[in-house]
Amino acid sequence: MITMTPIPGNSFYGRDILSVDQFARDDLEYIFGVAEGMRDIARGPGSSDLLRGKVLSCLFYEPSTRTSSSFVAAMSRLGGSVIPINEVHYSSVTKGESLPDTIRTLECYSDVIVLRHPETGSARIAADFARIPVINGGDGIGEHPTQALLDLFTIQEELGHIDGLSVVMVGDLKYGRTVHSLARLLSLYNVRILCVAPDVLRMPDRIIAQLQERGIPTGETADLNVVLADADVLYVTRVQKERFEDQALYERVKGSYVITPQTLRRAKEKMVVMHPLPRVGEISYEVDSDPRAAYFRQMENGMYIRMALLAAVLGKT
Ligand code: ASP
Repeated sequence: MITMTPIPGNSFYGRDILSVDQFARDDLEYIFGVAEGMRDIARGPGSSDLLRGKVLSCLFYEPSTRTSSSFVAAMSRLGGSVIPINEVHYSSVTKGESLPDTIRTLECYSDVIVLRHPETGSARIAADFARIPVINGGDGIGEHPTQALLDLFTIQEELGHIDGLSVVMVGDLKYGRTVHSLARLLSLYNVRILCVAPDVLRMPDRIIAQLQERGIPTGETADLNVVLADADVLYVTRVQKERFEDQALYERVKGSYVITPQTLRRAKEKMVVMHPLPRVGEISYEVDSDPRAAYFRQMENGMYIRMALLAAVLGKT
């Protein structure tokens, strides 16, 4: 990484975005404020050339719909351009090129790199080699920091505050990188985090321990009914089929929780249902028309947050 002269108020300038552990509450307030401005730009009649002349490399070694397309849209809406490498089998990666060499190549052509990779820690390795900022777009079962930022932004937009909330996370808490990041980001606030998963998909002990060290009340159960009535946020996740070595086990647990209109009858009227998407049966389509279903607004927010992040990292807010 190049060392940049700091811009007052913008701690994101020139920095990698690798883990939610790098953020303080001030950073979140700053980026959420910028994201609100970006929403006005995106919804407004005109266009922006804030990032004109800037180039983003989108390097995705794993499938993605929302993360990759929202980064591309974010860059385009701000007048920048993108080198999209979504199909690594068409690039030199399939010729055996290492991640560091691919990163060294892309840094010659671009100003910032978004990387999604199946191995935990890969974004940090890329950042160690890159002279330009690297943004972690999901590293295996590790982290998904930009998703956590958009999730938290959505909670604030939907409910007006974060302190004081009870957040229920349900589904695959073992392999789901979104919940690993979101739980830790939420621990900057005064919240309760309740984890609902079958025994084999429990939230990793290291994350529970980190939450508890930070004084966050936590609870674990396999029964959603025990905690549903108290939830302000119901964060539903997909069982991550691609992470299972034992496909028979996946088949056994994949349908553990399905949110239906009947489920929501037992929940608060002022509550939000969130999901990082894609959903593969965890939330029935009939839930979509419930005003509490926030997952489509959540993914829209993803573009505003990623516009804000790109502008902040490139020092253009
Ligand atoms: N899209 C999210 C991720 O990349 C969630 C998921 O795939 O289930 O982690």
